[in-house]
Amino acid sequence: MGESMRGTRLGTTSYEVDSGEYAPRLLTTYVCPEGHSATLPFALEADEIPDVWECACGNQAGRLGAALQMAPEPKRVRSHWDMLLERRSIKDLEALMRERLELLHGQTTRSA
Ligand SMILES: [Zn+2]
Repeated sequence: MGESMRGTRLGTTSYEVDSGEYAPRLLTTYVCPEGHSATLPFALEADEIPDVWECACGNQAGRLGAALQMAPEPKRVRSHWDMLLERRSIKDLEALMRERLELLHGQTTRSA
């Protein structure tokens, strides 16, 4: 009886096999006082992700999002969609799209 129970317990823990290859990684960015930045992937299970990292220039780089509020923010890359939204509202875009669709529809029916 004891033997069979041990057997089932072993079977239920087999899911642990999957975790190897897809170990989640946490990208941690360090910014040094000179403005250099380094992004390093740490395993999420890592006991401790260091708050400081030694920069290539020798300075102590602080972990972004940790203590350093004065660290320069990484430049946000604006997409075309962002730029579009700065000029037009969603309502405008919807109207524009409807207009275009009607135009397209009109063209295809006329040529057919
Ligand atoms: Zn540096």
